[in-house]
Amino acid sequence: MIRFFLLFSVLISVFGFSQTNKKQAKKVEINKVKPIPKPKGMEHLVDIQEIDPTLKIDVKYATTDNFMGKILYFNIERIYLQKEVALRLAKSQAFLKKTHPKYSLLVYDGVRPLSVQQAMWDSLDSLPPVQRGKFVSNPANGSVHNYAAAVDVTICDQFGKPLDMGAGYDDIREIAYPSLEAKFLAEGKLTKKQVANRKLLRRVMESQQFKNIPSEWWHFNAFPRKIVKTKYKIIP
Ligand SMILES: [Zn+2]
Repeated sequence: MIRFFLLFSVLISVFGFSQTNKKQAKKVEINKVKPIPKPKGMEHLVDIQEIDPTLKIDVKYATTDNFMGKILYFNIERIYLQKEVALRLAKSQAFLKKTHPKYSLLVYDGVRPLSVQQAMWDSLDSLPPVQRGKFVSNPANGSVHNYAAAVDVTICDQFGKPLDMGAGYDDIREIAYPSLEAKFLAEGKLTKKQVANRKLLRRVMESQQFKNIPSEWWHFNAFPRKIVKTKYKIIP
């Protein structure tokens, strides 16, 4: 019986401790994403998970799981953005969590140095420029990613599994075009659920004035290219 009392009081004290230390527990959670030194030339950018540790990331270009099938980022392990863009992304995450607490934004790409953009472009040199432009923006024009003001993003569930958007990340087929969703829905090539998932992503991102582009459901610009060029310096 005494043993039971002991166990009971231990439980009470542990429970009481965890209640009174909720704030502290939250702090531990926040510290889970350890800051790492920023890549050279990106010291002025922010790691989005330092702004909001609930954001999930999967840096596809730091792996071979991308449309080129090879590692393109050797020094970029996190998602870096201009601070004001990262703050807006954190607000989008909060907007999503208000209606879907178990969901999270899952970010695939943020800053993409011009040199990497150029390498992507050059490796596709067997294709004519118009075709190449479908895979990757022409480095001569610059991508908003080169200014750390664009994000490639989806939504994932509580297990980190991305929602079904009817086409994968970096899928260059027309099925990935937001501009053709109504057509593909009518033809039964996209389901209502897939379109609803894309609409949720757009609603969440547009709540903070991010703008989607017509050919990629995952790409959002924080500002139009013209404005970006006046606000920020390109990341070489
Ligand atoms: Zn993009």
